[in-house]
Amino acid sequence: MSETIFSKIIRKEIPADIVFENEFILAFKDINPKAPVHVLIIPKEEISTVTELNGKEDAEILVQLFAAANEIANAMNVDKDGFRLVINCGKNGGQEVNHLHMHLLGGRQMTWPPG
Ligand code: AMP
Repeated sequence: MSETIFSKIIRKEIPADIVFENEFILAFKDINPKAPVHVLIIPKEEISTVTELNGKEDAEILVQLFAAANEIANAMNVDKDGFRLVINCGKNGGQEVNHLHMHLLGGRQMTWPPG
């Protein structure tokens, strides 16, 4: 896959408001937040989108993404009232950055259906 702006954030070449980091995962505040809490959780490995995931090989990444989401939700005090996790995939999914990322949105009541 070709590199995106998220690779530069992972390498700390451009700034981001990082809220969580471990060996596999980086999470930072969305630059254009859609809720009081809006964090992007990304694997450090360059995987472009959901359809690039290979179940067995990438299982650990999926576990790490959800584990980070739980930890961040707890740290940002949205775990009790609830939050939303969103992964946009491809054109119709509204994906703009081609590096797999999970949006964690919280701090307000979400509506359904999404736009
Ligand atoms: P998506 O539409 O699912 O691909 O989401 C991409 C998200 O990345 C959008 O919500 C953007 O606001 C966010 N974004 C783009 N560039 C940056 C950046 N440099 N720092 C933080 N968030 C960003």
